[in-house]
Amino acid sequence: MTGDDIQLDTVSSTGLTLQPRVPLCQGDLPLDWYDEAFRPYAEEYLALPDRTPETVLPWLTGWMEPALDHFGDELLLLAHFYMGGDIVKLVERYGGAVADSYALALQARANPQARVIVESAVHFMAETIAILARDDQTVWITNPKAGCTMEMMAKDWMVLPVAEHLVNHFGDDLTVISYMNTSGRLKALAGRTGGAVCTSSNAHLVVDWARRQGRRILFLPDHHLGRNTAWRLGVNLDRVVALPDPRTLPTDWRPDTGALDDAEIILWGGFCGVHTVFTAEQVNWWKERDWTVLVHPESPLEVVQAADGAGSTDYLWKAIMAAEPGSRIAVGTEGHFVRNAREQAACRNVQVEHLADIPGLSGTAGCGCATMSRNDPPHLAGMLDLLRQGQAPDLNRVEPGDVIDEHSGRRTRLAPAERETLKREAAAALERMITVTESGQETST
Ligand code: SF4
Repeated sequence: MTGDDIQLDTVSSTGLTLQPRVPLCQGDLPLDWYDEAFRPYAEEYLALPDRTPETVLPWLTGWMEPALDHFGDELLLLAHFYMGGDIVKLVERYGGAVADSYALALQARANPQARVIVESAVHFMAETIAILARDDQTVWITNPKAGCTMEMMAKDWMVLPVAEHLVNHFGDDLTVISYMNTSGRLKALAGRTGGAVCTSSNAHLVVDWARRQGRRILFLPDHHLGRNTAWRLGVNLDRVVALPDPRTLPTDWRPDTGALDDAEIILWGGFCGVHTVFTAEQVNWWKERDWTVLVHPESPLEVVQAADGAGSTDYLWKAIMAAEPGSRIAVGTEGHFVRNAREQAACRNVQVEHLADIPGLSGTAGCGCATMSRNDPPHLAGMLDLLRQGQAPDLNRVEPGDVIDEHSGRRTRLAPAERETLKREAAAALERMITVTESGQETST
């Protein structure tokens, strides 16, 4: 099956609504955090008397509506479920779509009429959309400094020399599986080695597919998702080896390949700080009080093993929305998602709490993805207005292979020929994921 043959995922409305007189859930960013082109919008926003929908919506609509009228169907607004600041509700309100990373990746193709795609989420998600977009579709991110801390632990300059060292030792025996939370440069590495991209919803299918080919796997970048997937598939965990925390390694570090000869799956040592605050003790605290516990598989293995269920953002949302009235569910994932799920589930008499919100037990309250939330209402207003005027900064345009320094905002862009090669290799890895996901059932237990 080719990518063109598949039934494309569509995204459905979350049903989330802005509550009257309840302030948007997001602190303001300081003015000097905005790039110059966005400052006029930020100054206006910061001068508003409050953050209630009654105040913010008329201001935002004044910028959004002219752009929506100008572009019509050619404009596609997208956001990820983890966005804070009620951006998910705002994006939906203006006709956009909210999805997990798998469905987001498919949106350029699923919306052939879209010529201008504006994403409010992290950079790797926008880059993935750009990899699968046609040449006449442009992809924009409202704040290019919205990076993913997990992706930052696996920059190409950290991973590529190590991968090359492993390929030199293992040859064609080694294939790379790059989690969606990687740059296009690492997705291209997966493509070059005959590997694939995966998301948390299909990692078990993709890893199973690679194992059935008898390949040894280098799994990038999340060692928790890699280990949880191996456990789910019944892989002997003694043959799943994690490399050290990449933040501790000198640039010339290379693994001892002899010590990896028995490894079936080699895990890069990255992780998500949002999902590693969870503990089995927290899970047990809720279960002892008759709550159901659901967690995301970026959490540590012992958390996943103790929970009642583990799965992707999409799995968690659907499980919560399908729960019987009267259910009580503690959810171990990103804080903005849990807050939105709690609000929506309450309409059906389903109680939702954040797994880490245990007074007296958890040292760490549940936190949200702070970098993703760098996309706020002034960035959305400014992006749309600047695009309408034909004045959008090129820094907000996302091309395959772009690397952004999340602190300085400095961008490194590939030359056109290199970019084409990267796009082809990364797209091959994404297409393999799509094919495996749409057609596959795991064979392992
Ligand atoms: S929640 Fe974690 S893995 Fe997801 S985008 Fe944020 S930092 Fe990255």
